[in-house]
Amino acid sequence: MHDVIVIGSGPAGLTAAIYTSRARLKTLLIAGAQWGGQLMLTGDVENFPGFRRAVRGPDLITNMLSQAESSGAEVVFDDATSVDFSSRPFKVLAGGRTYEGRAVIVATGASRKLLGIKGERGLMGKGVSLCALCDGPLFKDKRVLVVGGGDTALEEALELSKFASEVKVVHRRDRLRATRILQERAFKEPKIEFVWNCEVEEVLGAGRVEGVRLRRVDSGERFELACDGVFIAIGQSPNTEIFRGQLELDGEGYVVARDFTRTSVDGVFVAGEAQDRSYRQAVFEAGMGCKAAIDAERYLERLGG
Ligand code: NAP
Repeated sequence: MHDVIVIGSGPAGLTAAIYTSRARLKTLLIAGAQWGGQLMLTGDVENFPGFRRAVRGPDLITNMLSQAESSGAEVVFDDATSVDFSSRPFKVLAGGRTYEGRAVIVATGASRKLLGIKGERGLMGKGVSLCALCDGPLFKDKRVLVVGGGDTALEEALELSKFASEVKVVHRRDRLRATRILQERAFKEPKIEFVWNCEVEEVLGAGRVEGVRLRRVDSGERFELACDGVFIAIGQSPNTEIFRGQLELDGEGYVVARDFTRTSVDGVFVAGEAQDRSYRQAVFEAGMGCKAAIDAERYLERLGG
């Protein structure tokens, strides 16, 4: 029996585990088989306080994990596959084992969305990618395309410009959503070009990506663009499927929370992008992890025993 089970190992889950362990609560961190969350797919993180120079996303997360372990958290690298919050203690199934906890912190985060177009899934790993940091070096001197107009799209484009011969950012509008600093950098990078007001309709290629078919949003005109890689960066959706029927979720699957971290079940807390659709910053998710941990500690104190 654990005092607290934390599900998820991005900045929210790791911060929560650091805090609950240091509060001397017996903490189990179910980190997931692909542990670390989205920062594992991120290159330089320049806005996490405390680092004068950029810190690499995977380094930041690896340090947080070591800190959680040295604070006393027990870590398993399995995916949580189901939960039972209908009675106490709460139960979480992971790697074929059932774990019991007096409190649970849900920090399962969010994953990249797909476009849902023809060719996308079939060519995944064969030129279609969701991670420039992981796959960028495979596109040395190749032509790549990034889909999206947010921070992620521009970060991906900038990362890819280190390797690729040309990077085209395809965006469905004529204005970017990304922050100014990233826009300025992308506009300055000679390898990056923008294709405005276009949607990708199909990824083309037999066995490997050879190009895309685009449609102009204004005129409906269709045309093809040759390329070797397609990086999709159109936002994310929450990883909350296992909580369906157990916790109140909103229409898009985000955990509904009061006061940021309290879910519809007393004793089950949420932190990070499983709940947060609007801030999505590592430092904010870490802060929510801290709050969820303190809320869980207070809940357990009230419970007594
Ligand atoms: P985002 O801000 O939601 O942007 C998604 C982009 O994809 C938008 O430009 C959107 O177009 C486009 N898009 C969405 N669905 C599409 C579709 N079906 N077809 C074509 N285009 C589509 O997502 P994000 O860039 O992944 O960023 C997520 C959050 O993380 C943001 O809050 C961001 O600030 C944060 N983030 C921060 C940093 C950083 O601070 N360095 C880095 C990465 C991410 P529209 O613009 O037309 O809606």
